[in-house]
Amino acid sequence: MTMKELAERVLLPCPFCGSDGELFVRGFTDDRADAGNAYIGCDTCGVEQPYKRSPTEAVAAWNTRASQETTR
Ligand SMILES: [Zn+2]
Repeated sequence: MTMKELAERVLLPCPFCGSDGELFVRGFTDDRADAGNAYIGCDTCGVEQPYKRSPTEAVAAWNTRASQETTR
């Protein structure tokens, strides 16, 4: 299982439409300072996070937002 698959397992549904979020990670092969930065997006309603410094941070931010939105 890849890191991406692992991270997506713990993703909460999209806070806006309830679909599964998808993790996007900037490639390490690019030799960029921001390689490995990641964000969660939703293909269904098009919502996207700003980039976070790591997939872990992106997932944490997404899940925080999702739980806030769903407990309203
Ligand atoms: Zn959505």
